[in-house]
Amino acid sequence: MNKTQHQLDFVQPCPGISPISAFSDNYIWLVSNGRQALVVDPGQAQPVLKVLKELQLSLNAILLTHHHDDHVGGAAELVAQTGAKVWGPAGEVLPVCDVALVEGDTFEDTSLELKLSVLDIPGHTAGHIAFFGTFGTTPVLFCGDTLFAAGCGRVFEGTPAQMEASLAKLAALPADSRVYCGHEYTLSNMRWACEVEPDNVALQSWQEHASEQRRLNQPTLPSSVELELACNPFLRVRQPSIVQAATNWAQRELTTPVEVFAALREWKNNFR
Ligand code: ZN
Ligand code: FE
Repeated sequence: MNKTQHQLDFVQPCPGISPISAFSDNYIWLVSNGRQALVVDPGQAQPVLKVLKELQLSLNAILLTHHHDDHVGGAAELVAQTGAKVWGPAGEVLPVCDVALVEGDTFEDTSLELKLSVLDIPGHTAGHIAFFGTFGTTPVLFCGDTLFAAGCGRVFEGTPAQMEASLAKLAALPADSRVYCGHEYTLSNMRWACEVEPDNVALQSWQEHASEQRRLNQPTLPSSVELELACNPFLRVRQPSIVQAATNWAQRELTTPVEVFAALREWKNNFR
C-alpha cells in the first residue's frame, strides 16, 4: 500500500550519533561507541572537549564538510589536545587537514562501525563535500550546510545550477537515510516552506512535530531523505505547485528546474 503524505515517518535519534551544540545554532555531530568517537564539523573545540571528558571518549577522527569557520574553527585545538586525524575536502583551504578527500574517496572507522564515502556537493562553498554511508546498518548522511531540514544553504561560492545539482545528488540517496545537517534552522525553514506550499500536509504535520521537539529543547535532526523529498521546496523544484509558487513570487516565467531553484533561494533570502 502506498503511504499517503501524512503517514510519513518522523525520524528517531540514532543511538551512537548525538549533537553537540556550538555557537547559537550549530550542531557538531558526535559518533561514538562508548569508548571512541569522531566529530563532524567542530566549529568550536571547548564543547567537544567537555563531552569527550564527561563521557571518557577518545577522539579518533575529525571530519570536515567545508571551510567555514563555524564548521572548522575548533579543529586545530582538538588536534592539539587529542591527536585526532583530520579528513576534509581537497578543494578547500582548511586550518588543518591530514587526508584531502574528493568524490568517491572513502572513510572507514571499523571500531565505530562507520563506513562513509565522499560526495562533491559544491554551491554553498566551491569545494563542499558530504559524507554518506552506513553506521552499523543505518544509512547516514552528513551534509554540512548544503541540505537543511526543509531548506538549504545559501549559495555563497557556487552557482544556482551547481547547488541544484548537489541537492539533487543528495535527494537520490536512499529514502531512509538519516540526514545530519550543520544547523538547527528547521522551524524558520518550515515557516517559509509553508508559504511556498500551503497545502502540503506532510510539511504541516512535520512542522507540528518539530515545534514540539523545540519546545522540549530537543534537536529536530536527524531528518531523512524521505521527509526532505516530501517537504523541502528546494528538492521539489519539479513539482507543479512549487513551480507555480516560485513563478508567482518571481513574477516571471521560470523555464528550468535551476531557474525555479534560483527563484526559491532568492525568495528565502528575502523572507522576513
Ligand atoms: Zn557554511
Ligand atoms: Fe554553517
